Amino acid sequence: MKIYAPDYYSRFSCIADKCKHSCCVGWEIDIDDLSMERYRSIKDIYDNIVTDENGVHSFKLCEGERCPFLDEKGLCRLILSYGEDILCDICADHPRYRNFYSDRTEIGLGLCCEAVAELIAGNEQKVKMVLLSDDGCEDIPDDCETDLIEAKRLITEAMQNREIPYSDREKAVLPSLKAYSRKEIYDILYPLERLSTEWDDMLSALLTEGEADIHDYDVVKEQLAVYFIFRHLNSECYDLDEAVYFSLFSVRAIMCIARAYYGENPTISEISDIARMYSAEIEYSDCNIEEIIEKISVG
Ligand code: SF4
Repeated sequence: MKIYAPDYYSRFSCIADKCKHSCCVGWEIDIDDLSMERYRSIKDIYDNIVTDENGVHSFKLCEGERCPFLDEKGLCRLILSYGEDILCDICADHPRYRNFYSDRTEIGLGLCCEAVAELIAGNEQKVKMVLLSDDGCEDIPDDCETDLIEAKRLITEAMQNREIPYSDREKAVLPSLKAYSRKEIYDILYPLERLSTEWDDMLSALLTEGEADIHDYDVVKEQLAVYFIFRHLNSECYDLDEAVYFSLFSVRAIMCIARAYYGENPTISEISDIARMYSAEIEYSDCNIEEIIEKISVG
């Protein structure tokens, strides 16, 4: 099995106590069975676990939906007391995600993490997919997978064609992509299920008059487009058109909200802040993705 990742993968590290939007706040953290077995014998940990009616174990969140092990300095008490190996799968793995194929696994970093959003939006180089490891085991991908992998390579290459403006790359890849106004993006995103009031404020900025697009940010748009394509064109999503439409719509939406919320010339940090929120609110909810795809009515 081969493992592929974007070339910035190895540059990621959690910024821990410097993170302003820690993933240890606001998310339910489910505990895998093996970790749960270990936690049963450690009273301090076991006392902070709840089990729901379906038998799913998770950490008992405190006020403000904080993980009970997140200390006042923003550090993880479990790591400080027991070392990194104590972490359950979700905590050890976040913000990584994986796409599985017969002959390969693609591993990436989720944009909902503040450090990842900065890494992606601030990257000036064209992203390449690199082979991280290969155990020599050669399963053969089926025809659908082979077609999908090739389509993804070609679409990524087209979105990285810096000889033409980003808007022309969009047209080349997806001629049917509409020019959404601020209000149209608001109407698509506002009715969706939401996690935070901060997202409400960002979306409400779309009700102000003004242009939807931000010009001269082609490299940032390219990096975001490549991220969404790498993540969402996967072996579980054989509807290529929908995944491409969702990916390019997402870049439009992020840039539009960034302009409406932060003004005409947002900084890279401000754009990455909107990208982080978009990812947390939309990308991590299958329902929200499905609703967006339905509303943008591909085809
Ligand atoms: S959001 Fe990212 S940088 Fe922040 S605590 Fe979580 S993994 Fe670390």
